[in-house]
Amino acid sequence: MPNTPNTLHTARLKNNCPICFATDGLEVIFTQEETETAFFKKPAKKMEEKMYCHTCQNAIYPVNWTEDIERVFDYNKKIAETNKAYLKVKPLFYISVVMAIVLVAAVVYILIPT
Ligand SMILES: [Zn+2]
Repeated sequence: MPNTPNTLHTARLKNNCPICFATDGLEVIFTQEETETAFFKKPAKKMEEKMYCHTCQNAIYPVNWTEDIERVFDYNKKIAETNKAYLKVKPLFYISVVMAIVLVAAVVYILIPT
């Protein structure tokens, strides 16, 4: 089963980068892995969160975050939470359910003496 990361929410921050101090480079990225089968897409329970600075091209780890970054991060995390993916059923699932009902109906029809 292939696992595909699904981006839930990204945001550019105006905070100073703790490494290069640029004010326009920081970006937070929230992703969630998705396992896909023929019948449904099953998202992982846990969200992955990343902070990246486009100016100095460094990943910014929580140890380097300032209070301001933490505040903005928490705010964006709430937005990402509302975008969280849930179990998605694909059309093939409904088709097989309908097929099963039709099959049962056919068997019942044949077995019931007229
Ligand atoms: Zn930077």
